[in-house]
Amino acid sequence: MEKPEYLFKNGKRLDGRKLDEFRKMKIKVDVIDNAEGSAEVEFGKTRVVAAVYGPRELHPKHLVMSDRALLRAHYDMLSFSVEDRKRPGPGRREVEISKVLSEAFRSVVALDRFPRTGIDVFVKVVQADASTRITGLNAASVALAHAGIPMRSMVTGVTFGKIYDDKGKTYMAVDVFKPEDQWGMADVAYAKAWNTGEVVLLQMDGDVTKEEFMEGKKMADKAMEYVYKEQVKALKSVYEVE
Ligand code: UDP
Repeated sequence: MEKPEYLFKNGKRLDGRKLDEFRKMKIKVDVIDNAEGSAEVEFGKTRVVAAVYGPRELHPKHLVMSDRALLRAHYDMLSFSVEDRKRPGPGRREVEISKVLSEAFRSVVALDRFPRTGIDVFVKVVQADASTRITGLNAASVALAHAGIPMRSMVTGVTFGKIYDDKGKTYMAVDVFKPEDQWGMADVAYAKAWNTGEVVLLQMDGDVTKEEFMEGKKMADKAMEYVYKEQVKALKSVYEVE
């Protein structure tokens, strides 16, 4: 796709959304029998499955910690998930995203309750239309809760970005999809621990002013409340008896 003349016109983004509007969101819990906890999250066409294994014996042994568990996130974008087939296996991007996701969860999961063990969180992108790390983080958060692993808080994330109209004026928008990620001036991945408000992930690609950042963040904070409620609703639905 060539760079479009605009990403925003007459109050609408390229997919018809308003600036503060989320894509259609779906959250399913308990999608993988073999896992201790699992979830699938869709933000529009972005679709990610998360599966949690553990706490369990940790390999390799030299990583074992006597006072807590080691939580490792493994992010993977499957070959068929993008337009141009992605080379299988972890590249630099996957290593980076796995690291930031691991760090986001280490700050909220009660790792000290499970000394000498490992908790593995697999995040598999089945279909990518941008914001995959944040969609994955939301799925992983639900999967960890479903696995019954104690957390100080659920973790919830939203992306926001900076897009332009046909006159070159710029706007902040939430839940960035592919054309906005590719052609917009900036995109931000932002996540926080719901109970404490602690920011657990913040990454920015591109440039924004402080004012633009705060405007985007404000929209994202509002959207996050909606995502969080959907996470909780999906979790409750697994345990509710008809
Ligand atoms: N993407 C792609 N091929 C790649 C990497 C990324 O097509 O090898 C697309 C995919 O849609 C992804 C988007 O570019 O969701 C944005 O990627 P980014 O690295 O910004 O991370 P994300 O927004 O997915 O967390």
